[in-house]
Amino acid sequence: MKNFWCEVYLDKIEHNLNLIKKFTEDKKLIAVVKGNAYGLGIEEISEFLDPMVDFFAVADMEEAKRVQSSKEILLLSPLVTLDDFYTDMDNIIYTLDNEELLSHLNKDIEIKVHIYVDTGMNRMGIKPEKLDEMIELIEKEFNNITVDGIYTHLHNTKNKKYTIKQIQKFKKCTEKYIDTIPHIHCLNSAGTLKEEYRALCSFTNTVRTGNLLYGYDGFSQGFKKAYGYFAKPVNKYFVKKGEYIGYGCAFKAKKDINIGVLGFGNIEHFGFNKDVKHNIFYDLLKVLYNHIKFRPVLFIEGRGVKILGRANMNTTLIDLNGFSLDDTIRVDISPILADSLVKKLYLKEVAET
Ligand SMILES: *Cc1c(COP(=O)(O)O)cnc(C)c1O
Repeated sequence: MKNFWCEVYLDKIEHNLNLIKKFTEDKKLIAVVKGNAYGLGIEEISEFLDPMVDFFAVADMEEAKRVQSSKEILLLSPLVTLDDFYTDMDNIIYTLDNEELLSHLNKDIEIKVHIYVDTGMNRMGIKPEKLDEMIELIEKEFNNITVDGIYTHLHNTKNKKYTIKQIQKFKKCTEKYIDTIPHIHCLNSAGTLKEEYRALCSFTNTVRTGNLLYGYDGFSQGFKKAYGYFAKPVNKYFVKKGEYIGYGCAFKAKKDINIGVLGFGNIEHFGFNKDVKHNIFYDLLKVLYNHIKFRPVLFIEGRGVKILGRANMNTTLIDLNGFSLDDTIRVDISPILADSLVKKLYLKEVAET
């Protein structure tokens, strides 16, 4: 057994969701579950969120098929291909992000779309000044297309001046549709966290959030981390003073020690270091820095645990000094980066820690 698992705290996701609702004064909520629900498991997370959200958003059709809900699913571009329009799913909302697409569409298939307006990201989208034209064209010539929403993406929220301009651009071209087109949205997680952006977006009626739901952000405002990785040593091994440990003899025991063997490594995406070669001075500084400053990624009851040598394919070796095989180790790794196959435990109620 690997003795390595990820706990997902559903009650904290619900807490975060309620907080988003409070922050945005009950705007409709699109739960973004792309990237396997930010690494937490798209099937389980969508099933849990289903009764609490208005609809879902994913990055592509493959993800849409995994969503456990009969509610609608918005395909966020730019990963929508013509083939996607011929799906047998009946709850897909497509992002319409270019005029070209219209000319290729078969007019016999009924589709629902949200129009994506480009307010600066320049990845895709309809230019704000072209929006009216596009909507008119659809009304006149495409009876098969229902425009259910308009949105844009705040992609640079750290820059206040830039983001405010973006919101103003979006407002200018969409405000008039607020009573006729059901969903107007631009607030994502970072936008939702900032009072000023929320206020400027008061004309919108829907939010689209991922990060905040899962607790990747917003801790100072009450959002809670909804996951944790844990491990227990699978075995221990005694090593005599002066002996080397592991691949490449990367660690030498300075005294007799017990080492712990952990059942995860590179294949679980743990312990990667990009072996970038800089110059000798940089390398020297790095070695010095890492020598002086111990920055743990493994913890037992808040105390850092030392990794001995380097993690390899399936194992990682640690210094067990002061710890036992029964101790649970918290592993500081992001679900977005960790292998999605790591066993997950979905917990409904967790005691506060
Ligand atoms: C990923 C994504 C979101 C969600 O962003 P968060 O910062 O996680 O809330 C919203 N909109 C679009 C277009 C996205 O691609």
